[in-house]
Amino acid sequence: ADLAMADAKQKGRNTWQWYQGDELRITEDAVMLRHDLHEALQKEQFELYYQPIVEAISGRIRGFEALIRWHHPERGMISPGVFIPLAEQTGQIISLGRWIMHRVCQDTARHATMQARNAQVVPVALNISSLQFRREGFLQDIQQALTISGLPPEWLELEVTESVLLDGPEQAIELINTLKAMGIKVALDDFGTGFSSLSYLRDLPIHKVKLDRAFIKDITKDSRNAAIVQGIITMAHHMDLVVVAEGIEELDQQEDLIRRKCDLLQGFLFAKPMPLANVMALPEVLPSTHQN
Ligand code: C2E
Ligand code: MG
Ligand code: MG
Ligand code: MG
Repeated sequence: ADLAMADAKQKGRNTWQWYQGDELRITEDAVMLRHDLHEALQKEQFELYYQPIVEAISGRIRGFEALIRWHHPERGMISPGVFIPLAEQTGQIISLGRWIMHRVCQDTARHATMQARNAQVVPVALNISSLQFRREGFLQDIQQALTISGLPPEWLELEVTESVLLDGPEQAIELINTLKAMGIKVALDDFGTGFSSLSYLRDLPIHKVKLDRAFIKDITKDSRNAAIVQGIITMAHHMDLVVVAEGIEELDQQEDLIRRKCDLLQGFLFAKPMPLANVMALPEVLPSTHQN
C-alpha cells in the first residue's frame, strides 16, 4: 500500500488519488500512518541522512543534502516520498519540519566544527515543504534553530520548490530576500517539473537551481531531454545561478553534464544518502564509483 500511495502521489501531484477497490485499505493505511507519525516524533524514529553534492569536474565535495528517514518499528524504512506528502496533508509537517530543522542544524554544526581546519564552507541543504515555508513564524523557527545549534547561517541552504509561489510570488520573494540578508541561500528544487512560467525564475532571488532527475535519467539517450537540460544550464548561468543535477547514476551522465557545463552533481554514482557518522569519514574528493 505504501507503494500504491507513492504512486498515487506521483499521478495526483498534490492530491490523493485513491484506487478503486484498494480505496478502503489505503485510507485505513493513511489513518494508521498518521497516528504512527505522531508517535514517531515522540519516540525519535526519524533519522537524517546526508548525500554529498560534488563539483562536476573534480568530484570534490561542495555540499550535502539532508534527507529524512523513518525507521518504522513494524514496517521498516518508509520513504519520505510517502510520509512527507501525508504529513503535509495532516499538518504534521509543521512539527516534523521543525524537528528536522533543529536536527540538521545540530548535525551540521558538529560537521562544521570538524571541517574548521579546511576553512571552507560545505553547506548543508535542508528541504522545506511549501506549507512550512509559507507559514507565519517560519523565519523565527530558522533563527531559533541557528541560535540553539550555534551554526553559522552560511552553512545552511534551503531547498524549496516552485509551489512556494502558490499564494502569489510577492511573499516568497520577500521571504527569500530576508533569508539572503541573514546569510542563508535558497535553491529551487525539482526545477522544470512544476507548472509555473519561466518568469518567476527572473523574479526569485535564489542562487541555485536543481535539475530534476526526470531530465537527467535519459540525458545521453533522449536528445529532447538533453536540449532542455542544456537550455536550462545556459539560461541559469546567464542569471548567475549555480546549477545542480540530481540523480546521477552513470559515468556517461557525468561526462555529458561536464560537457554542458553543469556546476554540481548529486547521485548514487558518487554516494547514496548516508548517516552522519559516515559523512564524517568521507574523503574530500569522491571518485565516480564511490557508491558506498
Ligand atoms: P528531493 O529533495 O528531490 O531529493 C532527492 C531524492 O533523490 C532523494 O530521495 C534522494 O535519495 C534521491 N536520489 C539521489 N541521488 C539519486 C540517484 O542517483 N538515483 C535515484 N534513483 N535517486 C537518487 P528521498 O531521500 O527518497 O527523498 C524524496 C523526496 O522527499 C525529496 O526529493 C524531498 O522532496 C522529500 N524530502 C526528503 N527529506 C525531506 C525533508 O527533510 N523535509 C521535506 N520537507 N521533504 C523531504
Ligand atoms: Mg531536495
Ligand atoms: Mg530535488
Ligand atoms: Mg527531485
